[in-house]
Amino acid sequence: MRVVRSIADLRAILRPLRAEGKRVGFVPTMGFLHEGHGALIRQSAARCDVTVVSIFVNPTQFGPSEDLANYPRDLERDQNLCLETGATVLFLPEVAEIYPTGFQTHVEPGRLAQTLCGRYRPGHFRGVATVVAKLFSIVQPDLAFFGQKDFQQTVVIRRMARDLNLPVDVVVVPTVREADGLALSSRNAYLDEEARRRAATLSQGLLAAQAAFDAGERQSSKLVKAARALMTGADSIQYLELVDAQTMEPFKGPVDRTVALCVAAYVGSTRLIDNVLLVPSPNLAGQNSSQSA
Ligand code: AMP
Repeated sequence: MRVVRSIADLRAILRPLRAEGKRVGFVPTMGFLHEGHGALIRQSAARCDVTVVSIFVNPTQFGPSEDLANYPRDLERDQNLCLETGATVLFLPEVAEIYPTGFQTHVEPGRLAQTLCGRYRPGHFRGVATVVAKLFSIVQPDLAFFGQKDFQQTVVIRRMARDLNLPVDVVVVPTVREADGLALSSRNAYLDEEARRRAATLSQGLLAAQAAFDAGERQSSKLVKAARALMTGADSIQYLELVDAQTMEPFKGPVDRTVALCVAAYVGSTRLIDNVLLVPSPNLAGQNSSQSA
């Protein structure tokens, strides 16, 4: 595995590989890697000839009162995980490499970025879209891998790639969870043992709603209620919402299309997010809807 810090070095490595017709996969991360990131890297390694992993804690996607300065870091462990999971190039740019003096051009996502996290983290998705567009332009991947854990991010990035005609396929990888359901996250490192146990009630709520849905429940309000009833470990729930998985707009009424049940909550001072997708089978959807495809 090659480790590079400059854009010029990365381009010099990738240019001949691309010329040989190698397929380039890309996994952008903020480091402090875990098996969730590992799943993305493994999938890229399985589908591509070259897998570039970037670790860049992007300042522009953090709000002024967020955890940028304290974001957890462990480069040695990250390097080992990248190696074990099949990365071929690890890209570790400095902030000044990505945002040189005078930088002033941003990517502004539209309505998809205004609900859920967009409502509570103003500017977050603008920072995400800008850095991902820049990284796509630097790496020029054929495929880029993102986790469903950050569902709204996947929708915003996919839209951006389409809107800006970026020649990359965005692949979404299912959320990797601990045995008790807690979604792996770098921010879980902030939780002590007791908070860690309480954090698991978020996914337990989501998975209960998923089970109710699989058993035939289609009423949005009942699904949200079933989830909320189990989320007793959260100190506060910022949002728990069912949204249309394509538009990210709030969804009410009987579920007749793919929706995402999304939560953001605080356990102590740690903000955690998670979601499940509820996908009606074509037969069941027909019972509740007069529309057909
Ligand atoms: P981050 O380092 O938190 O910015 O995440 C980098 C990528 O890893 C994003 O595409 C995340 O959605 C993805 N990711 C984070 N946690 C998980 C998880 N538990 N399962 C799958 N993907 C994840």
